[in-house]
Amino acid sequence: MIKENVLLAPYTTLQIGGPARYFAEAQSEKQLLEALAFSEMSQLPVFILGGGSNVLIADEGFPGLVLRVAIRGIEWSEQGERVLVTSGAGEDWDEFVHSCVDRGLAGVECLSGIPGLVGGTPVQNVGAYGQEVSETITSVRVYDRLTQRIDELSNADCRFSYRASIFNTVNRDRYIVLGVTFVLKPHGEPAIRYPDVKDFFADMSTKPALKEVREAVRTIRERKAMLLVPGDADCRSAGSFFKNLIVTREIYEQVIETAKGQGLIRSQERVPGFTTEDGKMKVPAAWLIERAGFHRGYHRGRVGISSKHTLAIINRGGARAREVLELVEEIQDRVLITFAVHLHPEPVFVGFENEDEERIRNKRK
Ligand SMILES: Cc1cc2nc3c(=O)[nH]c(=O)nc-3n(C[C@H](O)[C@H](O)[C@H](O)COP(=O)(O)OP(=O)(O)OC[C@H]3O[C@@H](n4cnc5c(N)ncnc54)[C@H](O)[C@@H]3O)c2cc1C
Repeated sequence: MIKENVLLAPYTTLQIGGPARYFAEAQSEKQLLEALAFSEMSQLPVFILGGGSNVLIADEGFPGLVLRVAIRGIEWSEQGERVLVTSGAGEDWDEFVHSCVDRGLAGVECLSGIPGLVGGTPVQNVGAYGQEVSETITSVRVYDRLTQRIDELSNADCRFSYRASIFNTVNRDRYIVLGVTFVLKPHGEPAIRYPDVKDFFADMSTKPALKEVREAVRTIRERKAMLLVPGDADCRSAGSFFKNLIVTREIYEQVIETAKGQGLIRSQERVPGFTTEDGKMKVPAAWLIERAGFHRGYHRGRVGISSKHTLAIINRGGARAREVLELVEEIQDRVLITFAVHLHPEPVFVGFENEDEERIRNKRK
């Protein structure tokens, strides 16, 4: 079951990454525990891999065990007005959403077309078009590497927020997600909250059905290279490489002043910003990148910005992780010089020297 020197690039949507010293695919909890026992016996570091759609893996690869969670199986249970759905972490996320929508269950339809596996979704609380998985997750079944026990975490335990949870912050690397339980609404109305989705149905006089919303979201995503289309280099990415900026009102005002000072906006114009639930401002990273002088289709060598999406850094063919890092830093540096703010990357860095990762994550905060 445990293989040696397995190239990781084919396991990622960026198609980048050197070899894993050891590689195992766990189709059951038993296999997962066996692989972990092997890593402990050999004192190897472990990296948990899902669909590889939110990772940048170093050209040198990973010196320990890469453990891919491939536990399948979906269970449906009706409970009065709601349906509880428990999915193995290794189920394909979009196929899972498809099954829910097919059964008329509302709650995840706007998350159609997001690549990756079910187990990856709580990690960064995936979200799109006005929905986040944290709205429907009731519990997450995990293996706790600290206590070496299987446990069930409640929604509150996961401490979800924008692109964050305990899994990628305070308890990073502690838990392995084995399965996720969602609560969905039978015959529920689809969520039509986001401008792009509203616009899509602007000419329609009746309310769109759940299936129509799923198809609309997939169509919108395809236009933005956010749907995986085989052979299309524009979506050979890790999705959005940068998170939207979340800042205090004070810093937001400073960004506006800096933009005015540099002649990037007119005196009456505002930098786009949306108030978050905790009173902060969310500024679209794409706006900052474009105003800092980059455009869709910009490239340097084998890496570039997608011609359909400013936030997606793409592998134009045969690119190396090192080249991605260089472009990421070029973008971060120019945004920093222009607006005095740091753009945080969204993907997880695997196998890099600590100082490389630290620099990209926290550069002159
Ligand atoms: C074209 C494209 C579009 C995208 N669009 C969106 C979007 O709209 N919204 C959004 O939020 N994201 C988006 N993403 C990012 C990505 O698809 C999601 O973050 C996805 O949930 C990652 O899942 P994965 O299985 O691929 O995880 P991986 O990339 O394999 O892993 C990501 C992180 O999760 C951890 N992890 C994965 N599985 C487990 C597990 N079972 N247990 C513990 N830890 C685990 C890994 O260790 C790693 O730290 C997009 C990516 C692409 C390529």
